[in-house]
Amino acid sequence: MAAADAFVATLQARFGDRVVRTGAAIADRPAWQGNGGPDSAPAVLRPADTAELSALLRACHEAGRAVVPQGGLTGLVHGTVTDATTLALSLDRMHAIEEIDPVNRTMRVQAGAPLQQVQEHAEAEGLMFPLDLGARGSATIGGNIATNAGGNRVVRYGMMRDNVLGLEAVLADGTVIDAMHPLIKNNTGYDLKQLFIGSEGTLGIVTRAILRLRPLPRSQHIAFVAAPDFARVPALLRYLDGALGGSLSAFEVLWRNYYELVTTAPAPHRRPVAAEWPYYVLIEALGGPPEQDAPRFEAVLMQALEDELIADAVIARSQGERDALWAMRDDVGQNARHAPIQAFDVSLPLDHMEQYVDAVNAALQARWPGATNMTFGHLGDGNIHLIIGVGDNSAKTRHAVADTVYQALPAGLGSISAEHGIGTEKKPWLTLSRSSVELDLMRTLKQALDPQGLLNPGKVL
Ligand code: ZN
Repeated sequence: MAAADAFVATLQARFGDRVVRTGAAIADRPAWQGNGGPDSAPAVLRPADTAELSALLRACHEAGRAVVPQGGLTGLVHGTVTDATTLALSLDRMHAIEEIDPVNRTMRVQAGAPLQQVQEHAEAEGLMFPLDLGARGSATIGGNIATNAGGNRVVRYGMMRDNVLGLEAVLADGTVIDAMHPLIKNNTGYDLKQLFIGSEGTLGIVTRAILRLRPLPRSQHIAFVAAPDFARVPALLRYLDGALGGSLSAFEVLWRNYYELVTTAPAPHRRPVAAEWPYYVLIEALGGPPEQDAPRFEAVLMQALEDELIADAVIARSQGERDALWAMRDDVGQNARHAPIQAFDVSLPLDHMEQYVDAVNAALQARWPGATNMTFGHLGDGNIHLIIGVGDNSAKTRHAVADTVYQALPAGLGSISAEHGIGTEKKPWLTLSRSSVELDLMRTLKQALDPQGLLNPGKVL
């Protein structure tokens, strides 16, 4: 600790205590549940700009000190945990929306800008930044990039990596990689930005980005429907994709147990259709003029009812009703009633999904009778969330539950993480999703960019 403090003191003398924060100044930092309580890092580095971050990282590199980048601390895989020897890095002072270009539909931002601010600035210009997730108020664009965030509208707009045109990143030794290219088409060799997107801060620190914006939709239509069996669910997706002319923007499926959870007191949400069916879908279409899109949306749903793809349906008639349906879907906080819980975000082909969930449930009940498994997800992307409670939160049990969930994935076809990432939480199972050759190439890249292993050590690999 003495040596550690000496280095921190050197940094503090050189950069000032506004940049290198210690002691009481960081004692009350917020910590997400996944971060395991108060941060143990002896200092938080808070550079004002890229040049200052570069100088800080160069100093850490020379001293062999590891750095853990932290954004909004809303991750779920322990990807930002520190220890007494690592220094936390926050870009919370680098939060500017630098420029919106309405002609080319791009936005230049600093990494510390919260997602919601980015969305609001785009909207004020009549544009949209489509990535959206529940933690939008705290999650930062830098964190969204580092973790390749997903969320509710991937079915239409892709994940974070599909919405970043260019970025700037700082390597472990302080080298600044300026890849702030504003182009959609740029076929000039390796796409270096993609190295950093989804690397969870292990290859470089993303400092700025050029985001791709989309036209702001002129109408939003939402329906909530019930499906009589699982086979109708992918059939409905296929039908809507075609019938809605490409305007389908969310296809969120709720298994009956999750639907009951979020529509039973103390949850405040009204139940829009009877809970007598096994599957429910929140359907959203973002599109053009409402006078054209509203009748089409209604006709498409009527046809689905007639064709018996769905058994029951309601269409939201006002902004209040649309918001209420999303609020019900998004009320994952209700799962706290089954605490202690574990959250999973697996991905697998639609034609394996029903058997997969049944197999997980059977395995859970066999080992932990009475276990709960609230199931829902972004089915348009093949991504489901399982929120599992078995009544025990010991490390051994958590590992056994995770093992049950991951080992049941169809070999070679599933992913242990659709959108949350690996962090430290899922490292033991990475070999289920990635081959040894792939992992070797990842290690080669890590070695090339961060030979001392100083950026977010112990995460991913
Ligand atoms: Zn999700």
